[in-house]
Amino acid sequence: MLPEIEEKLRSCPSLPSPPIIAAQIINLVNDPEVDIKKFTALLRCDPALSSKILRIANSPVYPYPKKIENLHQALMILGLNATVSLALSFSLITSLKKSVGSGLDYGFFWKRALLSGTAARVIGITCRMVEVEELYLASLLQDLGMLVLDKAFPNLYASKDLNPKCHKSLLQREQDMLGITHAATGSWLLAQWNFPDRFRLAIAGSDDPDRVPSQDERARFVYCVNLSGKIAEVFLYKMESEALQVLQQQTESWLGLPSKVFLEILEKTKIHLAETEQLFETEIPTWTDPQTILDNAREALLFRNLQILKEVEELQIGTVAMEAQFNNLEESNRHDPLTGVLNRAYLDKSLESSFEQARAHDECLTLVFGDLDKFKSVNDTYGHHAGDVILQSAARTLISKVRTTDLVGRYGGEEFVLILPKTPAEAAHIVCNRILEAFRTTEHEVARDTQLTVTISLGIATHSPDKPFSNVQALLQASDEAVYFAKTHGGNQYMSYESIEPAALI
Ligand code: GH3
Ligand code: MG
Ligand code: MG
Repeated sequence: MLPEIEEKLRSCPSLPSPPIIAAQIINLVNDPEVDIKKFTALLRCDPALSSKILRIANSPVYPYPKKIENLHQALMILGLNATVSLALSFSLITSLKKSVGSGLDYGFFWKRALLSGTAARVIGITCRMVEVEELYLASLLQDLGMLVLDKAFPNLYASKDLNPKCHKSLLQREQDMLGITHAATGSWLLAQWNFPDRFRLAIAGSDDPDRVPSQDERARFVYCVNLSGKIAEVFLYKMESEALQVLQQQTESWLGLPSKVFLEILEKTKIHLAETEQLFETEIPTWTDPQTILDNAREALLFRNLQILKEVEELQIGTVAMEAQFNNLEESNRHDPLTGVLNRAYLDKSLESSFEQARAHDECLTLVFGDLDKFKSVNDTYGHHAGDVILQSAARTLISKVRTTDLVGRYGGEEFVLILPKTPAEAAHIVCNRILEAFRTTEHEVARDTQLTVTISLGIATHSPDKPFSNVQALLQASDEAVYFAKTHGGNQYMSYESIEPAALI
């Protein structure tokens, strides 16, 4: 940032500031020894904030089978980072929304921000990213710099020639007048507020993500923030077909999502918008009703596909078929053909990357090793086909009992591994109880009029900053030893590696 601009910002008396509770939360998260009890106590001081966190934890965003009744459960289920981000989103937005300025259209500003946050959460869930709530917060705050610039330079956005609703022209104006952008300014402000680095980077790159090298592991986060703002615009302005196509292509090249998934993202954003409106007590008018927006997008993308088809015909190459084949290949490269969960090769990769992620961010990571009980006798008694049907059904049961951010893979034969990021041991116990109960009560139809029930044994091992494992193989081995213990104690139960007496392991 240019020194004279920074000086001007520093001396501006009305710069936005975080409310006390947000400042306390930020202090707490910057503490490497963050204390969950202190955090919960802090949230309890603000009943409106706590009730909003519970509300989102119980909303369709997180489809848990049971109602989350209190903050402690929310923390267990959502994880610490997600709860912190949610708390910051609510407290910051509620307080910042009260500020008024001169040139900027504040009403429009907040609508764009809330829409971006909503879209970011949907993108995060679609891409099975772990840091969905962090993404939500970063997207909500991505244009924070505009509030700063509006306070420090009251004439900046006040020009008559400027369309206050056109993001691009506001950006251009900032560059022309000050030689900086609101993205850099927002990132600067977050630094003053002591916000963790990853948020600052995402906001700095929000208007120009190419600044972050694509091989940087944080690039995906920055891409999502950038796309969220653009998807917000799909709802706010009538977009030309070409612009929509460009946006879809951008989504495809950054995140590898084809047009069908892009449309699903728009669809889900439309659905979640209602929840956002209620939570923030703000109506978010869109340029037309959301269904028309979707129809429009569908038409634009269909048109693009037709164009591709035509070119393909001319070239006599089945590009579309090749694309489909490629997608199929990609899918089958990751998924086990029988059960549809992650295959062994992809599971191994995911284990490595989840472990690295946990270590890099000082987070917990729990692995659960699952092994069906007495499965050989199912094959022996009812035949291999019956065994296959049960394996498929078991995989579905496992998937339905974990969060969308968790991963389920087939380790081998009748063995599955669950990767539960940001999950401490206590939360894993809740998940395992849920899984055991589901297996005990699920009847698998292996043939007409033949229903079978199989049970499963589970072994839990948790890597945490307090009790770290040196590598993911050791963690997996621990979960395998724990399941062995569950088996030798009769099966149909879980055992946690932590609770096994060291002498028993020898
Ligand atoms: P335990 O309770 O000790 O786990 O006993 P188990 O019989 O489940 O374990 P064991 O390892 O002895 O046998 C696993 C069986 O799983 C052997 C094999 O017949 C069956 N199996 C492995 N892969 C498949 C598969 O893809 N389809 C079918 N139908 N069966 C499989
Ligand atoms: Mg086995
Ligand atoms: Mg078995």
